[in-house]
Amino acid sequence: MTQAPDVAAFERLESEVRSYCRSFPTVFQKSSGHLLTDEQGRSYIDFFAGAGALNYGHNPWPLKQALLEYLVNDGVTHSLDMYTSAKRRFLERLEERVLAPRGLEYRVMFPGPTGTNAVESALKIARKVTGRTEVVSFTNGFHGMTLGSLSVTGNQGKRRGAHVPLPHATSLPFDGYLGDEVDTLDLFEGMLADRSSGLDKPAAVILETVQAEGGVNVASVEWLKRLERVCSEHDILTIVDDIQVGCGRTGPFFSFERAGLKPDLVPLSKSLSGYGTPMSVVLIRPDLDAWAPGEHNGTFRGHNLAFVTAAAALEHYWGDERLTRAVAAKGERVTERFAQILEAHPGLVTEQRGLGLIQGLVFADPKHAGEASRAAFERGLLIETAGSRDEVLKVLPPLTIDEDALDRGLDIVARSVEKVARSQRARVSRPPAEIHA
Ligand SMILES: *Cc1c(COP(=O)(O)O)cnc(C)c1O
Repeated sequence: MTQAPDVAAFERLESEVRSYCRSFPTVFQKSSGHLLTDEQGRSYIDFFAGAGALNYGHNPWPLKQALLEYLVNDGVTHSLDMYTSAKRRFLERLEERVLAPRGLEYRVMFPGPTGTNAVESALKIARKVTGRTEVVSFTNGFHGMTLGSLSVTGNQGKRRGAHVPLPHATSLPFDGYLGDEVDTLDLFEGMLADRSSGLDKPAAVILETVQAEGGVNVASVEWLKRLERVCSEHDILTIVDDIQVGCGRTGPFFSFERAGLKPDLVPLSKSLSGYGTPMSVVLIRPDLDAWAPGEHNGTFRGHNLAFVTAAAALEHYWGDERLTRAVAAKGERVTERFAQILEAHPGLVTEQRGLGLIQGLVFADPKHAGEASRAAFERGLLIETAGSRDEVLKVLPPLTIDEDALDRGLDIVARSVEKVARSQRARVSRPPAEIHA
């Protein structure tokens, strides 16, 4: 009999705001690759990957090696936004491995270490350069928890947490929101053309090409291209938030490469440092870089340990097409297994969605997605739910996971859904308890 996890200190001292620990109620101690190990010595396959912050797995060796070497040699850890060797190396690697090969030209802004910092900065600069105040966002979009980011986020529970109005943003239907037959951009384009639509011309639109927290909603290539065209015709800036689905999650480095977009502003964070070390940037079209020095600021913009691991990640994983191809192959495996699960449980699971290594199974009843996640945890797998009603079981493994571990994780997903289906059948066939008694 193993001991219960020792969570007393957390329950006594940590705020009620804690959340993921409620889905995964144990105390983790070690991690490596696709595995997390708790204090009881139990290992879990990680299909959550730090919500997309650990695309290269836990403690990837080439990054750890670079970090250890940097620490041993007394490299600068904190530097505000002063020039350091580590920052130069990151910038040069980004140019050489990511921007130049894709024909992209951007200035790099370091706005502070979290994703929401990058989103706030992108909104600020879009408003500054256009002189307009409004921003268009999309249903089910998620962009972070500070006020500006919340104003362009769909989720009502998160928005309510602001306890102030969230002005200067208009939410419009994302691709697919009104069913397969409707191109939701007819509405946006129509409203822009109509002088009585009540939609003020926005400074920018902000979107995820694959909505991650919002339930793994994939925008079609045609929709994305049309959105870019509409925006450019109306002189509206495009902000593609690639914080969760960038850095290879969908295959290519940027999620928008499949549609050939050239967004004006690109917030990046989560897996950019590659090691879980906090870091974010905004990529800014050079002619839009209208910041005055220090106009946006922050103490932790010079987190050099993150620059070191980010540069190492670009060197190690983005020198060729291997990772992109691996994501495509592993993504196909997930798609195939999901199709089998969908076929085996019609009625319980209604749809599969996704791209590359972000994929989801949609449950008819949201509570069954939660039950499947809990059943998976009991069987040694971390997997989260997403979507407006938490109805989507979302697979987000490290991109570097080996195929054997991927298959074992997918087996656990299948068995967990099977368990939910079994208890569902038992509930249906058994008369209600009160009648029974
Ligand atoms: C996680 C996330 C953010 C916010 O990043 P934080 O580091 O949590 O502030 C913003 N946009 C998207 C798409 C995200 O997934």
